[in-house]
Amino acid sequence: MKILNKILFDTFLYFLFLTSSFSTTIHSQNLSPEKLKSYEELASKMVRTVLVDQKGYGWLKELCKIGPRLSGSEKSMKAIKWAENKMKECGFDSVWLQPVMVPHWVRGNAAQASISSSKKYKNEKLKILAFGGSVATPKKGITGEVIEVKSLDEAKKLGDKAKGKIVFYDRPLDQGTLNTFQAYGEAVDQRMNGAIEAAKVGAVAVLVRSIQTNYDNVPHTGVMLYDKSVPEIPSAAIGFIDADFLSKAVKLDPHLKVTIKLDCKTLPDAQSYNVIGQITGSEKPNDVIVVGGHWDSWDQGCGAHDDGAPSLQTMESLDLLNRMHLKPKRTIRCVLFINEENGLRGGIEYGKYSANGKDTYLAAIESDRGAFTPRGFSVTTDSLSLLKMQNWLPILNKTYIDWIRKGGSGGDVAEIKNAKALLGYVPDDQRYMDLHHSANDVLEVVSPREMELGTSSIALMSYLLSEEGL
Ligand SMILES: [Zn+2]
Repeated sequence: MKILNKILFDTFLYFLFLTSSFSTTIHSQNLSPEKLKSYEELASKMVRTVLVDQKGYGWLKELCKIGPRLSGSEKSMKAIKWAENKMKECGFDSVWLQPVMVPHWVRGNAAQASISSSKKYKNEKLKILAFGGSVATPKKGITGEVIEVKSLDEAKKLGDKAKGKIVFYDRPLDQGTLNTFQAYGEAVDQRMNGAIEAAKVGAVAVLVRSIQTNYDNVPHTGVMLYDKSVPEIPSAAIGFIDADFLSKAVKLDPHLKVTIKLDCKTLPDAQSYNVIGQITGSEKPNDVIVVGGHWDSWDQGCGAHDDGAPSLQTMESLDLLNRMHLKPKRTIRCVLFINEENGLRGGIEYGKYSANGKDTYLAAIESDRGAFTPRGFSVTTDSLSLLKMQNWLPILNKTYIDWIRKGGSGGDVAEIKNAKALLGYVPDDQRYMDLHHSANDVLEVVSPREMELGTSSIALMSYLLSEEGL
């Protein structure tokens, strides 16, 4: 009994010690009223500067003239050179290219589909777009009856019924889900694994209803997977409006046949690069804050929201600190990662570099959710660091940031395993899936003001991390 009391008492003391040290830590994390005020004034100045200058938006116009930046393509190399030169022009303290070998898939010219056999609908054309990584069809195309399913599970259960047929995955993104990234995540298994499951039951090709939130006939592409144990069959998105049509047509004429022609192919891996530039810290040069996005895009539109403008926000955030004559204590490094879309090779390469180098990583911020109005930062870190960042909300709120929460960051920065905090910059998501991975993703759908506000959010967060630490 006595022993038990002693243990209880020790535990009580220990608990007291924990709570008291906890509360002093929280207390010391609060900025003094003067400091808070000076940061708030700085934030307001930053906002005015980006909104008036619109320098990053000017860069986006130049980038969109180069065109889309699919890994391994000539245009992606032009964009890499362009970014390297731009960082040098901005007077960053160091600028370098980090070599990375990337997959090299080319779409080709033919992406045709039509109803080739049906009394009712003969020769009706369907708008399709190959998924990244898909194999080609034979020159004369692939012809088969269409069998519609709503899920991978339904495809698995088709058994012999799927033999020689084209499996049509027809489950749209759930419009009732508030967060469009979540809705996308719940629909994308059809694109990722659709060809594998269809091939297992003997299908010859796959069509997938375009994963999008708007109503049009512009198909959205994206990466798809194969499994070595089953045949590789062609796989393409079908425009949303044509998916509606095809779904109706197969119900009225279950034996109609569709012919698909694709001539895409995978070439040997190509030499490419991450583009890196930094402002070297004035007091702690080896203490690094990474900001970045992915420099590759799909080959549709010009990858304006995915991930041109968001990458440029991170690049401009360094330039903005220079323009405002701010000298960060820690190093702020912009990394434009190559090949996020179909391989993540750039993120993986930088992850290896960060694991083996002499730098310490305080934080890494990724911008890869479009360039819409700022909303928040999603953070992977310990509770105290999160709390410290949350104390900066009144400052960040000047750029329209409303919240800082625990959550995921981004595919590329998540490869920096030794960073104390990983952050994802989160703008509004309601319009992103209207254009993501499609020909709709062009300069005209980026609002200069929304993009520039995001630049100020990222610049301010990286500067606060540099000055205040975690
Ligand atoms: Zn992206």
